[in-house]
Amino acid sequence: MPLFLSREQDRKRCLYDQGLGRRHDQIPRETRQPASRRQRGRDCPAPGTPAGTCMRDPGRRLRLLLVGGGHSHLEVLRRFGRGSLPNVELLMISAYAEHHYSGMVPGFLAGQYREESVRFLLEPLVSAMGGVFRQGSVASLHPADQAVVLTDGTRVPYDLVSFGVGSRPAGSQSAEVASHASVVKPMSRVVELHHRLLAAAKSESEGAGKAYHAGVVGGGAAGVEIVLAMDAFLRDEGRRRDLFLVEAGESILEGYPRGFRRLILRIFADRSIRVMTGTRVAGVEPEALLLAGGRRLEAHLTVWLTGAVGDPLFRTSGLAVDERGFMLVDDGLRSVTDQRVFGAGDCVTLENYPDTPKAGVYAVRQGPVLWESLRAAVLGGRPPRYRPQDGFLSILNTGDGKALLHYKGFIVHSRWAFSLKDWIDHRFMEKYKRLVPSSS
Ligand SMILES: Cc1cc2nc3c(=O)[nH]c(=O)nc-3n(C[C@H](O)[C@H](O)[C@H](O)COP(=O)(O)OP(=O)(O)OC[C@H]3O[C@@H](n4cnc5c(N)ncnc54)[C@H](O)[C@@H]3O)c2cc1C
Repeated sequence: MPLFLSREQDRKRCLYDQGLGRRHDQIPRETRQPASRRQRGRDCPAPGTPAGTCMRDPGRRLRLLLVGGGHSHLEVLRRFGRGSLPNVELLMISAYAEHHYSGMVPGFLAGQYREESVRFLLEPLVSAMGGVFRQGSVASLHPADQAVVLTDGTRVPYDLVSFGVGSRPAGSQSAEVASHASVVKPMSRVVELHHRLLAAAKSESEGAGKAYHAGVVGGGAAGVEIVLAMDAFLRDEGRRRDLFLVEAGESILEGYPRGFRRLILRIFADRSIRVMTGTRVAGVEPEALLLAGGRRLEAHLTVWLTGAVGDPLFRTSGLAVDERGFMLVDDGLRSVTDQRVFGAGDCVTLENYPDTPKAGVYAVRQGPVLWESLRAAVLGGRPPRYRPQDGFLSILNTGDGKALLHYKGFIVHSRWAFSLKDWIDHRFMEKYKRLVPSSS
């Protein structure tokens, strides 16, 4: 059954929940419209939400709101552009006007790609697909009111909403980390990091024989790629450097095969990058890390890339989340609490496959499923069932023209592995860039 009703049915909305076919008192508390709001009408600011402007048009078309310009939403946009959802207006709200593709971000930092090659400009893409783009950060979600509120207080109502906002590194919202470390999530913040590296390379005073101390906290795949990219960039700029990778756990690249980890440790050793495992960071200062046990590690630049946690907006929404704050979704990528709220990529945990890794490859595969699920919600029919694939091809860019590849026990560090990654990544970019006439 569709989630939406004919005008006649819509008129009876006071007695019935919107399209779920159940009386208001029969539907779960979380998905109910509060009575006060039904009397006020859809667009009045709800009590408890910050005052602000309201974006709903007086004309009644169903609004599909996409929050975040990540991988799965790119595919939803592409399919929306084919025009198979009439009477639906698509609005995308994303924190930045661009979306930087994480697969190519280490290559951008290493100086292998120009920024234009690794980012999408969201406004032209959304417009070309027949939607509307607005730059903004969603601060809170109010499922009972079917609205989100942006950090500037603007309240945005929706009929269906889908989240593709990615994850946050754990601890990145602490005041010390926020003030003194670089964070590359959302991914577009990588541009700030790039500027800091450029400044480091050009700085005369720092360059006069003194090493530039920099590194990453967090020894997952992203941390490994970023520190190798920083090393490659500073080396090419002729900058003396002392780089480190700090990891609280007993080893880096947890979950990867031992042979893969051994190989990466050899690469670090060859490039004189210090790997400090079993090391906790107790504090972050402007030019140093304070390590548990009292040691001080000089750091002109620290990139904070610890394990992923969910955006706080999910916890405060009242929707079901897992222990790390990711929204819990069913096989149709719908919130298990509210069937008008969807999500894909890093920001969700699949109720039936909770150990699915937070990796872009899964976000990409979820795109078509998310689209079909949204279509089913609008037009009726069963939502599809997403089943994550077992394992995935993992290729880490080592910043030296080579990449380290792992697939089902096969491991290689070579130039052709980089060429393969480069081909896969360019193909992904091209698939969406070509939707925009003469896109950059
Ligand atoms: C350096 C690095 C390299 C990586 N390399 C790979 C790789 O090679 N292969 C791989 O599979 N995975 C890789 N990953 C993991 C990958 O980045 C994530 O799994 C992937 O980005 C998740 O995609 P997503 O669409 O869920 O979120 P994201 O790609 O993070 O996109 C989130 C979007 O939401 C927007 N946004 C965020 N918060 C808000 C908000 N509150 N309101 C509005 N908009 C918001 C952001 O601006 C962004 O457009 C890498 C990660 C990093 C950090």
